[in-house]
This record gives sequence, structure tokens and C-alpha cells, in this order.
Amino acid sequence: MNAKRIYYFDNNATTQPTPEVIEIIQDCLNKYWGNPSSGYEFARGVKQMIKAARQNIAALLNAEPGEIVFTSGGTESINSAIHSAISCSDNKKHIVISSVEHHATLNFVKSLEKKGYKITFLPVNSEGLLDLKIVEKVITEDTAIVSVMMANNETGVIYPVEEIAAICRERRVLFHTDAVQALGKIPIDVKKMGVDFLSISAHKMHSLKGTGALYVRAGKPFKPYIIGGNQEQGRRGGTENTPGIIAFGKAAEIALSRIGQVDRVRHLRDKLEDSLLRLIPGTYLNGAKNCRIPNTTNISFSFVDSEAILYELDKAGVCASSGSACSSGGIEPSHTLLAMGLSRQRAKSAIRFSLSYYNTEEEVDYLISILPDIIKKLRANSPLIFRL
Ligand code: PLP
Repeated sequence: MNAKRIYYFDNNATTQPTPEVIEIIQDCLNKYWGNPSSGYEFARGVKQMIKAARQNIAALLNAEPGEIVFTSGGTESINSAIHSAISCSDNKKHIVISSVEHHATLNFVKSLEKKGYKITFLPVNSEGLLDLKIVEKVITEDTAIVSVMMANNETGVIYPVEEIAAICRERRVLFHTDAVQALGKIPIDVKKMGVDFLSISAHKMHSLKGTGALYVRAGKPFKPYIIGGNQEQGRRGGTENTPGIIAFGKAAEIALSRIGQVDRVRHLRDKLEDSLLRLIPGTYLNGAKNCRIPNTTNISFSFVDSEAILYELDKAGVCASSGSACSSGGIEPSHTLLAMGLSRQRAKSAIRFSLSYYNTEEEVDYLISILPDIIKKLRANSPLIFRL
């Protein structure tokens, strides 16, 4: 039996591992399976490979290798940065985040709220953009950390982290950015951006799940979140996930060499977006058109429930998402779209398509050719009905 062909437009949820990455993981499991902390030569080879991976990740971020702490993924990196900031902050009790952060940030700070921390959620406008003046206004003497993502996972909107970092520096407040969705899609330069912490994840960049890294600016005090052995220079306990780390290093090397190809991804995204908005009446783009990562589009299809659209797309072999993967399946509309002031109905009719280097023009053409009919059919049966 032939496997059904898949048209994958959900790269913000996860990405397909590159062949070179798969190869190095196999190599790692077959030949380099020693514990990097062991003293003999066999293990020193593994240690050497981790060192090379650290250098590759640092090069991708314009960081120093010593500033990279390997973790189990974006979620752990984010939790660790915020945990460290509040633990090193002389009992400061105020945290500032944007209202459109990923659940890895949102739910972590909400858990801290229950322990007595005060959280300020920065508002965004209808395009998902932040007002820097509000950032300046909400910081107080009691603020331990500000955390604003570099790019939003649902709309792709890019945030002015360099400017926010400058405000935080002036006010002597630590700044963290969740760069999970920016990695490999737009340049990241931690020196230029002036951030204190930056979180990344390997599986969003064609590598393994369960692997990530936290950039910690040299000289910043740091308290580990995962406490155990002295791995990662005492900044993260636990035997290293060697296949994950080494594969992440390989993915970083490939991403650096591919950054010039990002225009092709942008061209495909724009073709998809322009065509859907033109061919299907009652469609709306969610998020600032000219301030987005190049692979993401988020479109509302009036009077149709996104879950119904996803069901039809799935039958046609198309993978997409109604928001962040962590909340899909839930009935609540996306907190990001609601924070932008969109109606519940518009938020509940939104679909995110996210592309990668692997998408082809033929795949985009296929999606453009099937979606107008899917929407027409669903609208014909829609209880919410309207006539366009
Ligand atoms: N931050 C953003 C913006 C994300 O999109 C994700 C994953 O969807 C995460 C954090 C969490 O990363 P991980 O899956 O590696 O824990």
C-alpha cells in the first residue's frame, strides 16, 4: 500500500529533520555513545563533538561558545531564564511579558503569579504590534525581568527586541527573548541585540525534539533550574543529550549556509497568502503584513470554524494548524489573536500555514487549488451563515 502524500504546511509546530542531521544522529548512536563526562579517550571524542556543536550554535547567534547552555528545548530554556532572573534578583517580585507569548512563557509566569509574583502583560494592537512607550512605563524598581518573544509562533509578527533590550539595560532590568520561531528564519545577533537571555529549540530548525539551548550573556549571574551534576559548567544538571546536541550543531551549520535561501520561502508564502486572500471572499490576514518572519501566514476564513477546515485539509493530505500546536484540540480560540482584539469568531476561523525550505511551488499550487472549494463547501453548510 502506498503511503498517502503529505503536504506539510505546519513548520512552526515542528520541522522535518534534514538528511545530514539524521546521518549524524545515527553516527552518534552507533559510534559516539560514550558519556562526555567520562575520562577515557572514547568519551573525549564525544566531548569534542559537543564542543563543536556549541561553537556552531554560538556562530549562528553571534555568541561566544561559553554563553550557550544546552537544555531539553525551548520550554526549559524559557523557564530557566525566568527562574534564574527571579532567583538572582534580590527578591524582586515583578515580571513583564507580552500578552502574545507562547504558553512556555505564559503558563510559567502564571504559575509564579500564584506564588506571589506580579505579572504585567504588555498589550498589542490589532496587527499584533507592541508599543515601546508602554514597555518603558510598566517597568518599576521591583521588575526582575522583561520577556518578549522575537517572533510570534501564530502570526509570525516580529518584535523590536533590540529596542526593548536597550530600555531594559537603561533601567537595569534583565531581558529575555524567546527566539524559538526566529531561529534560522531571520538573522539573530545577540551582541547587536543586547539581550541577556535568548531561548532556542532544535526541532523548529530541522533537528531533534527535546533539545534546545539558552544563551546567557557572559558575566550575568545565573542559577540553574535543573539541578544535578556539574554538566554545562554547573548551569544545567543531567547527562547531556549527546545525539540531540550534536544534531543541533549540524542543523546550525546548515542553517547558516542556507540563510540566503530564505527569499524563496518568502516568495512561496507570499504566493500562497496573496492567492488565498484574492480567490476566497471573506478572508482576513492576521498580523502585521510587513513585519513578519518569512515563512508564516495566518488567515481567517469568515463563517467557517478552523477545526472544520483542518479536518477537510487533513483529508486532502495537508497539514496546517489552527494556532499553536499546544492548544489545538482545545475549544478556546488563540490567546494571541484575542489579545490582538480580534472577535472570537474571527479567531476561531483562523488557520496558520507555516512553510520551510522543503516546501515546493507545486505544493503551494496544490493548496491554492483545493482550499477555495473546501471553504465554499463548508460555508454552504455553515450554521453561522451569510452570503458573500
Ligand atoms: N516558544 C515558541 C515561540 C514556540 O513556538 C515553541 C514551540 O512551539 C516553544 C517556545 C517551545 O519549544 P519546545 O517545543 O522546544 O519546548
